[in-house]
Amino acid sequence: MRLVFLGPPGAGKGTQARLLEQRFGLRQISTGDILRANRTRGTELGKRAEGYMRRGELVPDDLVIHMIESELEHTGAGFVMDGFPRTVAQAEALDVMLARRRQPLTAAVLFSGDRAALIRRLASRWTNPRNGRTYNAITNPPKVAGIDDEDGGELIQREDDRADTIAKRLEVYDAQTRPLAAYYRRTGKLLEVDALASVEAVADRIAGAIGAEPAGT
Ligand code: AMP
Repeated sequence: MRLVFLGPPGAGKGTQARLLEQRFGLRQISTGDILRANRTRGTELGKRAEGYMRRGELVPDDLVIHMIESELEHTGAGFVMDGFPRTVAQAEALDVMLARRRQPLTAAVLFSGDRAALIRRLASRWTNPRNGRTYNAITNPPKVAGIDDEDGGELIQREDDRADTIAKRLEVYDAQTRPLAAYYRRTGKLLEVDALASVEAVADRIAGAIGAEPAGT
C-alpha cells in the first residue's frame, strides 16, 4: 500500500498518517517532520530549509525530492507520505522514483474542508516537538494542558502556526499544491475525504476505499 496525502495545512494529514502507520504498518514519511528534525540538529539541509519554513514558503523542490529519494531507500513496500508531494514537479519526480522501483502509487488522498474551520483548527493546534504528534486545544485536548499524554513532555505551538504564517501557507497551498488534485484525478488515483469529519470516520473511509487489511492479517 503506497499512499500520498494531499490537503491544506490543518486538514489532519499527520494524524491520519500516524493512525495508518499504527493500524496497517505503513511507514509514515512526513517531510515537515524530517525537515524540522534537520533544523533542530543543525544539519546543512536544516539550515537551507529554515528560512523558507519560517516564512511559510515551500522548501525548493530539489532539496525535498532528494530527501524523499533517500527515505524510499529505507522503506519497504508500504508507506504513507504526508506533506509530499506539494508541487507538480515533486509529484512527477515521485512517479519516476516509484516506476523505477516497480511500486506504483495506490492512491492520493485529498483532505478537503471549509477554509475558516481549518484555520481555526490550526490556530489551536499543539505539537509534540519530539515526534510531531498533535493535539487540538478544542477538539482533542491533552489530559493536562501543554503536556503530551504519552511521553509527559512539553507541547509547543509551532512557529509557523501563527495567524500571519498560516495565511501565507494557505496561499502557497492554493498556488502550488492544489493543482495536484487534477494531476492525480487524471490517473484515477484521487480519493477525496471530508477533513472535518471525526478522526475515526476519516480513518474508516480511507481504509474502506483502499481495501486496507490491518498489519499481520
Ligand atoms: P508541514 O509540517 O507539512 O506543514 O511542513 C512545514 C513546512 O516544511 C512547510 O511550510 C514547508 O516550508 C516545508 N515543507 C514540508 N514538506 C514540503 C514539501 N514537500 N515541499 C516543500 N516544502 C515542504
